[in-house]
Amino acid sequence: MRNLWSEKDASRLSWLDQLVYQSRLIGAEPSLVLWGGGNTSLKTTERDFRGIECRVLRVKGSGTDMKSIQRQGFPGVLLEHVLALFEREDMSDAAMVEYLNHCLVETNAPRPSIETLLHAFIPQTSIVHSHADAILSMTNTTRPTALLSDAFGSSVAVVQYRRPGFLLSKEVALSALNNPQARGVVLLNHGLVTWGDTPRAAYESHIELVSQAEDFIEQSGKGKRIFAQIPYIKGVELDSLQRHRAAASIAPAIRGLVSKRQGALLRFEDGDDVLEFVNSSEAEGLTALGAATPDHLLNTKQKPLLIDVKDPRELDVVKEKLRNGIAEYADSYEKWFALHTDGQHPMLDPFPRVILLRGVGMWTTGRDARAAGITADIYRHTIGILSGSQALDRYASLSAQEAYDSEYWPLELYKQSLAPPEKELSRRVVLVTGAASGIGRAIALRFAQEGAHVVVTDVQLSGAKKVAQEIAEQHGEGRVLCCKLDVSNEKAVKAAFEATRLAFGGLDILVSNAGIARTSPLDKLSLSDWQASLAVNATGHFLVAKEAVGILKEQGLGGSLVFIATKNVPAPGQDIGAYSASKAAEAQLARVLAIENGPYRIRSNMINPDAIFKDSKLWSPRIREERAQAHGIAVEQVEDFYRQRTLLKTSVTAEDVAEAALYLAGDRALKTTGAMLPVDGGVREAFPR
Ligand code: ZN
Repeated sequence: MRNLWSEKDASRLSWLDQLVYQSRLIGAEPSLVLWGGGNTSLKTTERDFRGIECRVLRVKGSGTDMKSIQRQGFPGVLLEHVLALFEREDMSDAAMVEYLNHCLVETNAPRPSIETLLHAFIPQTSIVHSHADAILSMTNTTRPTALLSDAFGSSVAVVQYRRPGFLLSKEVALSALNNPQARGVVLLNHGLVTWGDTPRAAYESHIELVSQAEDFIEQSGKGKRIFAQIPYIKGVELDSLQRHRAAASIAPAIRGLVSKRQGALLRFEDGDDVLEFVNSSEAEGLTALGAATPDHLLNTKQKPLLIDVKDPRELDVVKEKLRNGIAEYADSYEKWFALHTDGQHPMLDPFPRVILLRGVGMWTTGRDARAAGITADIYRHTIGILSGSQALDRYASLSAQEAYDSEYWPLELYKQSLAPPEKELSRRVVLVTGAASGIGRAIALRFAQEGAHVVVTDVQLSGAKKVAQEIAEQHGEGRVLCCKLDVSNEKAVKAAFEATRLAFGGLDILVSNAGIARTSPLDKLSLSDWQASLAVNATGHFLVAKEAVGILKEQGLGGSLVFIATKNVPAPGQDIGAYSASKAAEAQLARVLAIENGPYRIRSNMINPDAIFKDSKLWSPRIREERAQAHGIAVEQVEDFYRQRTLLKTSVTAEDVAEAALYLAGDRALKTTGAMLPVDGGVREAFPR
C-alpha cells in the first residue's frame, strides 16, 4: 500500500485541515475503508462559546464517508468531559450517545462516531482507525494471534472481538497504554487503530502496518492455489455477452423472490475476481462461514446465497434452483433469528443480499441502486479478504450469536429508524418512452423526484442523455439509465428492456409515451405517413407493453402501465386522421392489457392530454400552421385558441400530465385499471364514455 502523504500539500494546511487531508487519503483507499466505515480524530485546543480555551477532540461524524469528508464532518467534543468516563466500569450504548450529546462543542453538529471514546482514551494527538482488508485477512483465521505475532512481533497489540461500544473503547485504550512499544492495536474481526503526534505520523504508521500485513499475506500465499476452478464450469464457460444475456433473463425472477416483503433493486457484477471465486470449489465452504466484520454484515447479511448449476444456460433449471435456494435461505434465517433473538426487535427481511450464481456472476440487492452498489463493493472486498485468509491459514468468521448481535444491534436499528420516510416511488423502476422532451421528460423528472429509478428512452439519444444527466446530477448516477429507443423497432425494444433487466433487475412501471403526429385530410394522406403513425402510435405501444408485461409477470409483484393517449381518442379532429386512428388503437390496446393482466395485479391506464405546447416535439411549427388553418385562425392565436376552448380556460402543461401519470403509476391508484383520465383543461366533446 502506497504512502500518499505529500508534505508539500499538507504543510500549507491548518491543523484541522490536516485531519481532513489525512482522512481523505484513508477514505480514498477502498481496501482500508468502504462507504462510511472507519474513523479518524485530532485533539486540539479551541475556544468554547464563552471564549475560554479548552481541549477538544475533533472526531469523524457517525456514518460520514471519509473520501469526501469536509471540516463540518468532524464534530468537536469537550475532551475533559469524555475523559471523565475512563473511570467507569461499563456504559450502555444509549447512555454513551446521550452523554456525548452533552459534550458537543457545536449544538447542531453531526452525531460523533460510536468509536469516539476510543479516540479520546488513547492519549496521542491523532488517531486513525480502518477496517483494512489485509488486517481482516489475518484476524479472520483460526489462529489470528499467532499470525499477528509472526507478522508484527510486539509492534501491534491485539484485543479480542467485541461489538463497538464503551467496553471495546476502553480495552483498546488500555491495550495501547499497556504496550508502549506498540504502534497500533489490532481489533479481531474488526480492524486496526494507529496513533501519532501529528496527522501525518498516525497516517504513516497505519500505511506501514497495513503494508506489512499485505507483504506477509503475499509471502504466505506464494505457490499456493487459493481458489481452484470447478472443472464442469470450465466446460460450459460463457463469454461476457452470454453472461449478461443470462443475467438479464434471470434477474426479474430473483427480484420477485427477494422483494416479497419490500421492493429491492438488483446490481449485477461479473468481474474476474467475482467469477474466480464463484466458480471455485472453495466457494461452497467459505460462503457458509459468514461475514468478515459486523460492519460488512449490516450490508451483506451474515451469509451470501450460492447457487450451484451444472450448466448456467439451462435457464429453467437455474430459476428452479433459485426459487428453492432463496426459500431455504429465508427459512434458515428465520430459524437463526428464532434461536438468538432476545425478543426486543421484530425480524428484519430474511432474504439474501448477495446471490452468487456459478458460471454467471453475482447479484446484490438493496433498497435502491446505491445500496445494492455498496453491498457489491463490500462483497468484492470480502472475496479479497477470504483469499488472504486462505493464503495464511483458513478463513473464520463471527459466531452465530455475534452475527445476531451485530445485525440486531439496537444502536444500528435506531439509526435506521431515523432515516427519512421513503418516497412514493422509491424501490421502483420505471421505463419512459419518448422521454427526451415534453411530457416524457416531465414524467421522467417527476418520477425521479419521487424516488424512482428511471430508464430514459428516446429515438433522439442526445436529448435523452440530457434528461438522464439532469436526473443523475440531482439524485445520483445509479438512479438513471439512458437508452436510444425507436419503439417501432422490435430489436431495439428488446435491447432496451434487456438493459433495464441488467441494470436494475427488473421493472415496475412502464410509461408508454412516444408518439408522432402527421396531419393531412385523409384523402390526401400518404400511405407512408399512415404507416409511420401506426408504427409508432400503435405498434410501438404494443412492443413496449409486451416486453414490460413479460418482466412484470416474471417478478410476480404486480405493476403499472401508463399510456399517454390523447383527447383525440374520444374526440377526434379533422385533418389528423392518422394520429387519431393510431392513438385509438393504443387505447384499445391499453384496455385489453387491463383485462388480460388484472389477475397478475398489473394495472393499465390511459391519460388523455390535449394542447401541450411548451417543449413539445408534437407541436412543430408545421403542425401549428396546419392546426391554425384547420381552425381558421392565425398561427399566433393557436395556443390561446386551445386555451379558450377548455372549460377551465386554462393551458395544460407537461407537468400537469406528469402529476396524473404519477398518480396512476403509484399505489394511490391501486384500485384503478382500464381507466382513461383526461388532462385537457376540460373538453366537453372529449368526456370519456
Ligand atoms: Zn470500526
